[in-house]
Amino acid sequence: MRFEKRIFLSTATVHGEEMEFVKEAFERNWIAPLGFNCDGLEEEIAQYLEKGSKEKYHTVALCAGTAALHLAMKLSGVKAGDIVLCSDTTFAATVNPVSYEGAKQVFVDSEFDTWNMDPAALEKAFQKYPQAKVVVLAHLYGSPAKMDEILEICEKHNAVLIEDAAEALSATYKGRQCGTFGKYNVISFNGNKIITSSGGGMLITADKAARDKALFWATQSREPAPWYQHEEIGYNYRMSNVVAGIGRGQLIHLDEHRDRKEQIYRRYEQGFKGLPVKMNPYLPESVPNFWLSCMLVDEDCAVDPMDIMNVLNEANVESRPIWKPMHMQPVFKDCDFVSVSESSVGEQIFKRGLCLPSDIKMTEEQQDIIIDIIKSMF
Ligand SMILES: *Cc1c(COP(=O)(O)O)cnc(C)c1O
Repeated sequence: MRFEKRIFLSTATVHGEEMEFVKEAFERNWIAPLGFNCDGLEEEIAQYLEKGSKEKYHTVALCAGTAALHLAMKLSGVKAGDIVLCSDTTFAATVNPVSYEGAKQVFVDSEFDTWNMDPAALEKAFQKYPQAKVVVLAHLYGSPAKMDEILEICEKHNAVLIEDAAEALSATYKGRQCGTFGKYNVISFNGNKIITSSGGGMLITADKAARDKALFWATQSREPAPWYQHEEIGYNYRMSNVVAGIGRGQLIHLDEHRDRKEQIYRRYEQGFKGLPVKMNPYLPESVPNFWLSCMLVDEDCAVDPMDIMNVLNEANVESRPIWKPMHMQPVFKDCDFVSVSESSVGEQIFKRGLCLPSDIKMTEEQQDIIIDIIKSMF
């Protein structure tokens, strides 16, 4: 059996409203960085995140989530030679900005309950590096981390938390939106995320002055003077008004995307009943956005997820290994790694896990065929 059209992990799903906002940008001849769609997207995301919260959030639309992470790093005061405690199992974009500022990553192992940063390993990392003042935490595949514990440890050690919610927009922990837990928070509108602007990101903070500083850096650090006056190094990180229009059209469909993602997750969960397999886990106090459905093969089972990936590929279905932990990446071979277990949890998840097709355009019939292919491997 081979699907005629390839089934992907997660691709953009457009609806129509996107074009209305883009059209307005063209009609008003506003094809520039900055503009009314950027302002609109900033305001609408802030409103979305403020649901169920008393806090007011300030946002800056940027050209990428990675740019937002870089500005978050600068706002946190990270300097050359500093130590930054980072999620280990994540996309490299979470931790690369540490290097942009000349600082050093120390990777903190994951736990099995959410696949995110292990609070016990974070505490151990602070014991070893008491000088660390910044923590960068990602919520993997849209499952919120153990936020109460993480926040308590950060507070105890007087550290700033940067929350990478690039994969977790619309996920909640105890009713609070991901992307609002850190002092500085980041979301992404990259093409494969739960909603997209075709590419882009946003910095979120409750600190208005920090928001203004980020905007200043993102627009080449232009001082308020009639001529081009520069007293700091700047960046060209702003989002285009056209791109922001796509994001605004997508945001209308965010909750609908989330619900469809959950249906996909539940169908896998149901389909795998009786197999030595678990779905990517989450806490009872969390509501994930189910951005990607992933499976983890039980420890004592001999089935190799890479074999499943290859068989799915032959059927013209895309699947992908779990993020390879950062402490295993050659580029970070000089960085320390802190764990509280005998063998790295992130490494075990990487070896036994697989990201499954979670594209919301996939039909139930297609998903059932994919489930049957996977079942036949056991
Ligand atoms: C996608 C992603 C990013 C980067 O966002 P971009 O908008 O692509 O720069 C950062 N962190 C995580 C965890 C991501 O999945």
